[in-house]
Amino acid sequence: MTFPPLREELRGIAPYGAPQLDVPYALNTNENPYGPSAACVADIAAAVAEAAAGLNRYPDREHLALREGLATYLSRDVAPGQAPIEAAQVWAANGSNEVMLQLLQAFGGPGRTVVSFAPTYSMYPEYARDTHSRFVAGRRADDFTLDLDAAVTLVEAERPSVVLLPSPNNPTGTALAPEAIGALCEAIGDDGLLVVDEAYGEFRRAGTPSALELLLTYRNLVVTRTMSKAFAGAGLRLGYLAADPAICDAIRVVRLPYHLSAVTQAVALAALAHTDELLGAVDALRAERDACVAWLREQGLHVADSDANFCLFGTFADRHAVWQRLLDEGVLVREVGPEGWLRVSIGTPAEMAAFRAAMMVVLEHPGVAGGES
Ligand SMILES: *Cc1c(COP(=O)(O)O)cnc(C)c1O
Repeated sequence: MTFPPLREELRGIAPYGAPQLDVPYALNTNENPYGPSAACVADIAAAVAEAAAGLNRYPDREHLALREGLATYLSRDVAPGQAPIEAAQVWAANGSNEVMLQLLQAFGGPGRTVVSFAPTYSMYPEYARDTHSRFVAGRRADDFTLDLDAAVTLVEAERPSVVLLPSPNNPTGTALAPEAIGALCEAIGDDGLLVVDEAYGEFRRAGTPSALELLLTYRNLVVTRTMSKAFAGAGLRLGYLAADPAICDAIRVVRLPYHLSAVTQAVALAALAHTDELLGAVDALRAERDACVAWLREQGLHVADSDANFCLFGTFADRHAVWQRLLDEGVLVREVGPEGWLRVSIGTPAEMAAFRAAMMVVLEHPGVAGGES
């Protein structure tokens, strides 16, 4: 027996995570580059002080006040004329990663199948592994959009209990066509759930609706969101979902006791009171994204269309060499996605200028860029 007595299938596996390096320009984890204002920080500090006075008690395990606040926020994205989202349709946890793990704990598991479509978020197979669910990855089309006919065929063949689909997709930035959501919900039926992961939903381009518009039409639809990206709260660890109240209810069976600390609840509520400020940079970041896509294309590179706050670009014969050359210039991007591609998060104008300057260095050395693969 080797020590420690780790599960067989976990041996030798490297933990998930982007390198956390101390660099001048960190453009690798899709954070919002703009932090909270002094007024927001003061309100958060006051909320934490108030929560601290009651830390001898366990927090509200149903986090009702926070669910109300999140429901109000989500109601901005329902279809015109549709009923607002209610607290009973909302569930929160420590990041949407925990929300999705809870979903698989409740709805996946031994003998059940989870489906997603690659290239996509690399955590999905890990949730499946950790909940002993079978994982099946379909393929996206060459332009990274979802081939709906192939997706429906796969769903009909595999009968998954959970389908995980980000919109916009990470790492490609690709949004899901609205008709795909309805078609998949119908193909999945009452035996499963379609989870549309809208971690980057707030960055979607004008004219791309949120899956929240379809929440009342399909009771097997779950939409997840996070405060980590557009909401400028990656350090907070707060993710949430909107779904049929019966789904929220079921998750309560698998959540750990008091999973959401009083401090987290207080900070998230205080941040929600500053929603407009915290989301204030989203329009500028979208414009910066569109400019970045256009600039990279002008340099002759391939760039995937993006509805997110990052873009996937390439292709490089040796992407690791390009990643390293950018890092040498102080710019950290992410080596992720299909072979030959790299992903850059959208930062401030100064950060993007540094990225472009570093890219010029790369492109002036064809030996490094290596031409197209
Ligand atoms: C960043 C990200 C999340 C959010 O994770 P949190 O745990 O909420 O920080 C979820 N899904 C995708 C696809 C992401 O890229």
